[in-house]
Amino acid sequence: MKVLKFGGTSVGSVKSILSLKRIVENEAKKQSVVVVVSALGGITDKLLQTSQLALKGDEQWKVEFDAMVDRHHKMIDTIITDTSDRENLFKSIDALFEQLKSIYFGVYLIHDLSEKTQDAIVSYGERLSSKIVATLIRGAKWFDSRNFIKTERINGKHTLDSELTNKLVKDTFAELPRISLVPGFISRDKNTERTTNLGRGGSDYTAAIIAAALNAEVLEIWTDVDGFMTADPRVIKSAYTINELSYIEAMELCNFGAKVIYPPTIYPVCVKNIPIKVKNTFNPEAPGTIIKNKIDGDSKPIKGISSINGTALITVTGLSMVGVIGVNRRIFTALANEGISVFMVSQASSENSTSIGVREQDVEEAVRVLNEEFKNEIADGAMFPMHAECGLATIAIVGENMKHAAGIAGKLFGTLGRSGISVIACAQGASETNISFVVKSDFLRKSLNVLHDSFFLSEYKVLNLFICGVGTVGGKLIEQIKNQYEELKERNKLKLNVVGIASSHNAIFDRDGLDLDNYREALKASEPSTNETLKEKILNMNIFNSVFVDCTASKDVASLYQSLLEHNVSIIAANKIAASSEYENYERLKKTAIQRGVVFRFETNVGAGLPIIGTINDLRNSGDKILKIEAVLSGTLNFIFNAISGVVPFSETVRLAKEKGYSEPDPRIDLSGMDVVRKLVILSREAGYRVEQDDVEKNLFVPDEYFQGSLDDFWKKLPELDAEFEAKRKTLDIEHKRWRFVATLDGGKTSVGLQAVGPEHPFYNLEGSNNIVLLTTERYKEYPMMIQGYGAGASVTAAGVFANIMSIANI
Ligand code: ADP
Ligand code: ASP
Ligand code: MG
Repeated sequence: MKVLKFGGTSVGSVKSILSLKRIVENEAKKQSVVVVVSALGGITDKLLQTSQLALKGDEQWKVEFDAMVDRHHKMIDTIITDTSDRENLFKSIDALFEQLKSIYFGVYLIHDLSEKTQDAIVSYGERLSSKIVATLIRGAKWFDSRNFIKTERINGKHTLDSELTNKLVKDTFAELPRISLVPGFISRDKNTERTTNLGRGGSDYTAAIIAAALNAEVLEIWTDVDGFMTADPRVIKSAYTINELSYIEAMELCNFGAKVIYPPTIYPVCVKNIPIKVKNTFNPEAPGTIIKNKIDGDSKPIKGISSINGTALITVTGLSMVGVIGVNRRIFTALANEGISVFMVSQASSENSTSIGVREQDVEEAVRVLNEEFKNEIADGAMFPMHAECGLATIAIVGENMKHAAGIAGKLFGTLGRSGISVIACAQGASETNISFVVKSDFLRKSLNVLHDSFFLSEYKVLNLFICGVGTVGGKLIEQIKNQYEELKERNKLKLNVVGIASSHNAIFDRDGLDLDNYREALKASEPSTNETLKEKILNMNIFNSVFVDCTASKDVASLYQSLLEHNVSIIAANKIAASSEYENYERLKKTAIQRGVVFRFETNVGAGLPIIGTINDLRNSGDKILKIEAVLSGTLNFIFNAISGVVPFSETVRLAKEKGYSEPDPRIDLSGMDVVRKLVILSREAGYRVEQDDVEKNLFVPDEYFQGSLDDFWKKLPELDAEFEAKRKTLDIEHKRWRFVATLDGGKTSVGLQAVGPEHPFYNLEGSNNIVLLTTERYKEYPMMIQGYGAGASVTAAGVFANIMSIANI
C-alpha cells in the first residue's frame, strides 16, 4: 500500500483538485492507497485570522467567514457533478460551517479565544476539505483522523503519543479499503478528548505516522513544486530539484526551514526505512525527489541550503565560567523546562562563552529563564547577565558527502567574506552533514544567493550591474551588453544581469534582470530618484556580485563610491571625477576596494577604450618603473587642431567636436585643459606618483576670460579668437609643424600645454581625435612604449567600460 499526502495547494483550485483525483485513481488501480489531505490552500491562515477579528469584536469576521463558505461552495459546485452527491455534500459541509459560525460568534461575544477554541476552529479546514475530496473520488472511504491520531500535553505542547497512535492506526485500517481518505493535521488529546493538531504543516506528519504504522511501500508528498530543491525556490530563482536525498540530509534541510516537508515527518518513516517521494501535483510526470536511506553515486558534497529567519542569539558568557560546573546541562534543562527549543549551539573551546540560537519569539523568555538559572553566578560576578541579539537569520548548508570533501568550510566562509557578509556565529556537528551559521537578517537573501551560486551554479558566473547614466556612453553600453548577453553566457559562462538603471532623475530596478529593450520607457514611467535614493536602493537590494557602473560626469554620483565600496559593490567608472579628486580620496577608494575584495577600475578615464591604465598597472606589477609619460590625451583638442584650416576656423572646429560627440558636454572643460589635467593626474597616480590637479603646470591657449560667464556667452565670444589662431596656423604651416596639446610627466613633475611638433615627432601624424601615449620606463627606455588609437567616442568608451566589467568576471 501507499500513503499519498496532498498539500493545501493541491486542493486549492479546481485544476489541482482534479489532478489529485486522476493521480489517486491511477494509483488505486495498482494498490490500496491512504490519501491524506490538507485544508484548501490558504484556509488555515484564514481560519486563524478570522478568529483574531472575532476576538477583537471586529464585524469583518462575518465577511471573512462568508468568503470561506463561498469558496468551498464554489469548489463543490464546479467539481461535484452528480446532483445527489452534491446535495449530500452540501448538507455535511454546511453542518460543519454552522458549528464553526457558532464558535466564532462565541469568541466575538465573549472576547475570549482560548487555545482550546483556537484548536477547534483551525481543525475545520481539513475536516471540510477531506469531505469534499472523499465525495469527489468515488468509492473513497472517509475517516476521522482524530479517532486514531492521539496527542498528550507535554511541556505545554501537543505531543504525539506514538505508541497509542500506532496501535489505533493499525486497528482502524486492519481492513484496508481501496481508497481511504483522511484529514491531515488534526488530532485528539488522549486524556481530555479535545481536538488538537500536530502543528502548522502537520498534514505531512499525519501521512508519515500512517505510512509507518501500516508499513507502506512509500510515502508520497504531493505539493506544488517538482520536488525537494537545492534552496527555497521563492528566494533563489535558480534553485533546482534534487533527485535523491538521504533521510539525514532531508531532516537537516527541513529542520532549517525547507518548508516543503514538516520536520517531524521524516523520523517515523526513516525508522521503518520507508522511502519518501516528493512530487508535483501540477506536473505528475516529473520524477520528483526520493528520500531514502542510502544514496548511491552522488558525489556532490552539498545537497541543499536552507534557512530560518527571525532567529536570536543568546550569549552565555563570563570570565570564570570555566570553573562553573555543568553550565551546558543547566542551560539546556532550564530552557527545555520552559518548552523553548534551541536549534544551534556554538561554544568556544576556552569554554567561557556559549552561544545559543533560539526563535525570536522565545528570546525574552529564554533570557529571563537563564538569568534566573544563573542568578547566583551573575551576582558573584562569575558570569555576566545574558546578552541577546535579535534580527538574525540562521543558514545551513547540508550534505552527507561533506565529510569526505576538504575545504567546504573554507569555500563557504570565503564566499561570504568576499560578499561582505560577516558571520556572527557558526556550528558544525562532528557528523559533518551540516554547517550552520548566523548572519544579520538583512544579509539572508544575499547569503543564500552567493552560496547557491558558488556551490550549485558554478557553471555560470553572475555579475549584477547597476548602470548609472544613460547618455551616449551609458546608452551604448546597455546596447552592447544586450547584444553580447547570449554569447557571453554560452562562451564565457557569464550572465551579465543589469539589475538597475538610473538616469539623472529616474531609476528602475529588478533583481532578476531588467528588460533592456524597453528601459527608456520604463525609466520615464518610474518614480523620481535622487542620488541618495539610488544609493539606498542599491544597498537595500544587497545583491551579490554587484557592480556600479558610472557612465556620468557627475560629481554627486562620484561621491557615492566610498559607501558603495564599503558595502562590497565594485565600481567601474567612466567618470573621471573620483580618480582625479584629492589624492587622499583616490587613495581611500582604492584601499577600500582592496580591503573589501572588490574592484575600483576606471580604464576609460584616459584614452577611452585604449588599454593605457591597465598597461601601466601591468608594467608596475611586473617590477618596472614608469619614468616619463608624454601623451596627447584629448581626443577633442586633437580633433580641433587637426580640423583647423584656412576654411574651417577655430571656433567652428570646437562646434564640430561638440556635434560629433568628441568633446565633454561642456567643451570648456576640454579647452581649459581641465580634462587633460585630470587625465594626467590619473595616469601619474597610477604610475606611482602623488600628484594633485593644482600641481600640474598649465600652458593654455584660450585666455581665462573665455571660461567666465555662461556657456552661451562662451559660444558667442569664441569666434573672436579665430583671427589670432589663423595667423599662428599659417606660420606653423610654413614651418611644417603641427599643434598638439601635450601632457607630460617627467621625474614626478607634471605639465600640460600646446607644443608645435615637426614631422620627425611621433605625435605629428596623430589623426582625427586619436590619442597617443609614450611610456618611458626602466625597461622601455631607449624606445618608449607607444599606445595609440581612438581616444574618444561613445562606442569605444562603452567598449572600454565593458572590458573593465569583463575584467571583474575573470577574477
Ligand atoms: P503544501 O501546501 O503542499 O504542504 P508547502 O507550502 O507546505 O506546500 O511547501 C511547499 C513549498 O515549500 C514550495 O512551494 C516552496 O515554495 C517551499 N520551499 C521552501 N524550501 C524548499 C525547498 N528546499 N524545496 C522545495 N520547496 C521549498
Ligand atoms: N493546513 C495546515 C497548515 O496549513 C496543515 C498542512 O497544510 O499541512 O498548516
Ligand atoms: Mg506543507
